[in-house]
Amino acid sequence: MIMRFSEVIGNDALKESLLKMACGNRLGHALLFTEENGGGAFALALALAQFVNCRDPRPDDSCGQCGSCHKYGKLIHPDLHFVFPVSSTAALSESEKKSPISDYFLPAFRELALSNPYFTEQMLYEAIGIDKKSGLINVGEAKRIAEKLSLRASEGQWKTMIIYLPEKMNLEAANKLLKLLEEPPQGTLFLLITHNPERLLPTIRSRCQPVALQPLNRQQRQRTEGQRQDNADYREIAHSLLEAGLSKKIIDLFPQWEILADFGREKQREWCLFMEYYIRKLYLVANGIEPLADLSPQEETAVRGFAAKIRPGFYEKAFTALEDAIAAIDSNVNPKLVFCDLSNRLLLAL
Ligand SMILES: [Zn+2]
Repeated sequence: MIMRFSEVIGNDALKESLLKMACGNRLGHALLFTEENGGGAFALALALAQFVNCRDPRPDDSCGQCGSCHKYGKLIHPDLHFVFPVSSTAALSESEKKSPISDYFLPAFRELALSNPYFTEQMLYEAIGIDKKSGLINVGEAKRIAEKLSLRASEGQWKTMIIYLPEKMNLEAANKLLKLLEEPPQGTLFLLITHNPERLLPTIRSRCQPVALQPLNRQQRQRTEGQRQDNADYREIAHSLLEAGLSKKIIDLFPQWEILADFGREKQREWCLFMEYYIRKLYLVANGIEPLADLSPQEETAVRGFAAKIRPGFYEKAFTALEDAIAAIDSNVNPKLVFCDLSNRLLLAL
């Protein structure tokens, strides 16, 4: 996943102004991205970090091909640093447990960010195995930031430091960060991503150039779900539901809606959005406009097969059913009822 600006979903005007600032050397040394949870600020911050260290940048994007871009694409560039809220887990050693820092969780973080750069705070906690707790950024982490930035950039022009949710810093850590922002180590670009700017020290806020993201609209959210590399399990449920529905085998629907009902609320919403995106693809293929459907090689055969069998009236009914399901999830309706109703409606519409 090489995150060029053109890859980032949504916020087109913002992308353009960031590019202009970067090309005109008008970027501040610290930017504060404000997003709605899962709103794509990480993808945008990463695209910017990649751009400033690209060895062959174009006026409108990084090249996506040089050695630096490739390392950014794997999140392993030595001048790309991450800080995010963590907590102690059973997997850490006794000494690590006392003051857990992001570095201990980097492999899990990379895996998450590579498979879904539009991750939410909850997804992060789940990925690093602290989902029962709330993450924090402690002073030990702030000291690590200072240490890392005291070294010269090893390959790139810029040391890029992405801090996800700086509002999770305790006061001591926040004061250390403030010092760094006041006297930034040379050649450092701080990219802070917040969900609650009002919870940051005003002195930190005032040191940063504000970058406010627009929330992604429904269609853009669907695209982020559809682009994810780890949605094979979502697709499998979709296929099983469609197969059971087309063959009118009610008995085969049960296991699927039980799986869905066992997901957390966030994942249930995600799956519904994924399903909307998937149904849109079926609709496009069924109507002879396959090039617009952007099919991946893994889904081509299945999508064409389903599209050939589905009745034209299905699509609209399915969308309404999915919208109703999302509304019901958001108002805390028992998930078993939500997905039992949804799968019945899909079956009847097919
Ligand atoms: Zn490049």
